[in-house]
Amino acid sequence: MEKNFEILWNNCLSVIKDNVSLQSFKTWFEPIKPVKLSKNVLTIQVPSQFFYEWLEEHYIVLLKKIIKKELGNDGRLEYSIVMENAYNAAKPYTVKIPTTNLQATKNEPVNMPVDINTSKGIRNPFIIPGLKKVHVDSQLIANYSFGNFIEGDCNRLARSAGFAVAKNPGGTAFNPLLIYGGVGLGKTHLAHSIGLEIKNNHPGKTVLYVSSEKFTHQFIDAIRNNNHNDFIHFYQMIDVLIIDDVQFFAGKEKTQDVFFHVFNHLHQTGKQIILTSDKPPVEMQGMEQRLLSRFKWGLSADLQVPGLETRIAILERKMYNEGLELPKEVVEYLAYSITTNIRELEGALISLLAQSSLNKKSITLELAKQMIDKFVKNTAREVSIDYIQKVVCDYFDLPMELLKSKTRKREVVQARQIAMYFSKKMTKSSLANIGMHCGGKDHATVLHACKTVNNLIDTDKRFRGYIDDLNKKISLQ
Ligand code: ADP
Ligand code: MG
Repeated sequence: MEKNFEILWNNCLSVIKDNVSLQSFKTWFEPIKPVKLSKNVLTIQVPSQFFYEWLEEHYIVLLKKIIKKELGNDGRLEYSIVMENAYNAAKPYTVKIPTTNLQATKNEPVNMPVDINTSKGIRNPFIIPGLKKVHVDSQLIANYSFGNFIEGDCNRLARSAGFAVAKNPGGTAFNPLLIYGGVGLGKTHLAHSIGLEIKNNHPGKTVLYVSSEKFTHQFIDAIRNNNHNDFIHFYQMIDVLIIDDVQFFAGKEKTQDVFFHVFNHLHQTGKQIILTSDKPPVEMQGMEQRLLSRFKWGLSADLQVPGLETRIAILERKMYNEGLELPKEVVEYLAYSITTNIRELEGALISLLAQSSLNKKSITLELAKQMIDKFVKNTAREVSIDYIQKVVCDYFDLPMELLKSKTRKREVVQARQIAMYFSKKMTKSSLANIGMHCGGKDHATVLHACKTVNNLIDTDKRFRGYIDDLNKKISLQ
């Protein structure tokens, strides 16, 4: 007679509880759901690939014993993994991975895309060789490739160092590779290029791009949830860690401490670290000395303001990618007028296109001149809530009245939340005032909207795309 799987799993849990810390029990075992038991095979559902691997790596001996005790020598454990929102899967889906054959020495076939990586070796006999070590969404933006990164005198050193790192991550003297330079000069783009190229060259490596702010927030959350160690373990498992805008670590001692430990671990184990910053290490303020000295271990390479030819080439690449054509004189005029920031240069191009399609005018040098005049004059002005609402409505093709109304239609609610988010971010208005402008909501609603948007930015690529677009448009006013 077969035992009921829930009772069986409960028996297992009570043994596990006696053998692991309460924290580990809560973290790794409580989230597991028993799914079924058939022919001595117990299937349990785990929330992610990472989770499964963690169990296999840390608790295999314990699990093996317990299954043997409960199900006898033929007992086996199978995992059903709820896939993380991987590269393009819109919804989580469930796959079954037969694993942990507690009896046989041969491994079961694996019915998911595998990544054969024999050089790594197998750390325990129950991990299926070839299964990806960790399943981490790299957070890389495909457009920010080397192919789209125009080379010029301004970026030659940084670009070629990046290229060398991408060929042989962790294996060059450029570790860490620190890319620094002013706003809008391509630090983020280049950092992504390196990450993407590493994924191309070394598909087995776990690459992670993370902004320093996100790293900080995750760390604060980890402390709050009492899983500080999991946070550190997670980061110590990454093969290539890219941290954008490390200058924001300034003044955050605890974050610097934890980053220091992660850094040391990765560096000692031959993993690659790539950092960006708005200034070179010598000029960074509010940063611990020991961290600064490590930043200097590898190579610091700067990005400078691109020359006219490079600016033209960047505009042309952008137009080519978007399938646009502009008179040569217009391109030259733009490149000539906007000199210090590539993001602004691209912004001017987009704004010019928008103007021309809005007013049904063809793009002439005359139009470009008018636009640049306005554009350059306006950059210092604070944006207004009204303006933000207008851009958001245009973007989602919603009438403004609807956004300001009380309707709870899904698409309107989301647009309204986005407008609130940008209003909070880009104006000095109070939460209450923002709420009043957006359908007479109170400050708590606005706060909630900001949180929701932040969450979606972190978890939903398409949504992040919207926010990036809107950010560009709003900053352009
Ligand atoms: P930063 O992180 O230094 O502020 P970004 O990497 O965000 O700057 O770059 C701003 C914009 O300029 C991005 O859209 C990026 O694609 C573009 N850009 C920067 N440098 C180059 C380059 N060398 N070639 C093509 N596009 C570039
Ligand atoms: Mg950046």
